[in-house]
Amino acid sequence: METGKPYIIRCTNCHAKNRILKEKVNEKPVCGKCHKPLNMAGIFIGKPVEVSDATFETEVLHSQIPVLTFFWAPWCSACQGVLPIMNRIASGLRGRIKVAKINIDKNPSTTSHFQVMSVPLMIIFDNGKEKEDMTGAVSELDILKKLASYY
Ligand SMILES: [Zn+2]
Repeated sequence: METGKPYIIRCTNCHAKNRILKEKVNEKPVCGKCHKPLNMAGIFIGKPVEVSDATFETEVLHSQIPVLTFFWAPWCSACQGVLPIMNRIASGLRGRIKVAKINIDKNPSTTSHFQVMSVPLMIIFDNGKEKEDMTGAVSELDILKKLASYY
């Protein structure tokens, strides 16, 4: 899935979208609008990030790139089936989409805020806003199709 397309990194200071050429990613890019250095932390991890009630706002709502958030529970067998898909997406769309995992049993505040009724649930967030919801057994292809308009 690696492409030559520029990365689209949102400035955490002014929220402007910046297109960063692949070859410039390591040259401390600055925001074209407010000229602050872009926060590149955590963008290129390439695997799902475990988030909690305490880190949800920073990791998901203030993310520099769109976030596919996976709500799951240890007792949910369908969630175990979705996990390899999350791992592949995190790796394949490294630098373009962040994948966040949240255990609903351990994070009641986020779970009730988003009125999570059943898992697996996936929500795409962009610029702090909830954009798409997917519940149950969704195919990898369907998730990728939905994500394609966000990067
Ligand atoms: Zn800025």
